[in-house]
Amino acid sequence: MSGNEAPVVGKDALGRPVKDLSVIPWWGVDRKSIEWYPRINYDKCAGCGLCFVTCGRRVFDWDGERGKPVVARPYNCMVGCSTCATLCPCDAIEFPPKDYIKKLIARNRVVKKAFEMVEPITRRNHLNEREVESDFTP
Ligand code: SF4
Ligand code: SF4
Repeated sequence: MSGNEAPVVGKDALGRPVKDLSVIPWWGVDRKSIEWYPRINYDKCAGCGLCFVTCGRRVFDWDGERGKPVVARPYNCMVGCSTCATLCPCDAIEFPPKDYIKKLIARNRVVKKAFEMVEPITRRNHLNEREVESDFTP
């Protein structure tokens, strides 16, 4: 299933259409079994709206009363993405440690699957594949 096939489930506070991207597995893994999504530290958040406006996957919605974002659709978040945390001017967005992703990649043989996907369009280098895979062995 691709992003185009994910069902539209409503609109956000700006009236933009919202899809349920959580129905799309991540490398064959149920997206809802992966705890990768942003957490907002409201002690730091200034309510600028940058995260809400820029995340194209509509993970955030907006609480107009409080003037703050909310993580309304956590499993819409792209596994491994942390763009909103990078952009936040207040460092108010947190993600699990990178180790969490590394273990996920190792457990699900994601590097091997990626090599297999690019194989038809590149010359395969078996040495590189083994080296890269060993980087993800916990
Ligand atoms: S970008 Fe950061 S400061 Fe701005 S609304 Fe989002 S969490 Fe708050
Ligand atoms: S990490 Fe990326 S996909 Fe996830 S909420 Fe932030 S900007 Fe959106």
